[in-house]
Amino acid sequence: MMNDPARQALEALMEGNARFREGNPAHPRRDGRRRAETASGQRPFAAILSCADSRVPPEILFDQGIGDLFVVRAAGHVLDAAGLGSLEYAASHLGVPLVVVLGHTRCGAVEAVLAGGETCGSARFVVEAIRPSVERARLLGGDIRRDAVRENVAAAVSLVSSCEPVIAALVAAGSTAVVGAVYDVESGAVEIVG
Ligand SMILES: [Zn+2]
Repeated sequence: MMNDPARQALEALMEGNARFREGNPAHPRRDGRRRAETASGQRPFAAILSCADSRVPPEILFDQGIGDLFVVRAAGHVLDAAGLGSLEYAASHLGVPLVVVLGHTRCGAVEAVLAGGETCGSARFVVEAIRPSVERARLLGGDIRRDAVRENVAAAVSLVSSCEPVIAALVAAGSTAVVGAVYDVESGAVEIVG
């Protein structure tokens, strides 16, 4: 269930993505005036959890500007306590009505898990967080690369929306919506999933 602000936020994101995808971006709200307007406080209309991949910059692919998006990024959009705490702050203190979990095609973090290679150091945290999604995707028996990305998005949507006590309560009250999406690094298109 999505309330009106969440629906409007999603519409604004998808309209911005259409402009970007069609090679007609407006580059809105990126000038000195906007900087001055937002200096005393932020009021973003959406939070985005996305991969750290350099080909997936949320402000560019959604054609938004300064103060529009509250963005949390990590490889494979893997969440830790800091990431969840950041999204919690966006939902409860900044009052964003919408959180978008944005996975993407050709995600190196997901493909590293698919390839099953050895990892060491802190990268292991990322790989182990993604592994259950890859295992679920294998069981589906379809296009494993596509399904692994989607399962990883679904897992993060579930983790964020059930995050107790704050976000889960906001989701239950209908104040915050959490949706999953996948960005295609070739076409530039964002598709809502799940
Ligand atoms: Zn990625």
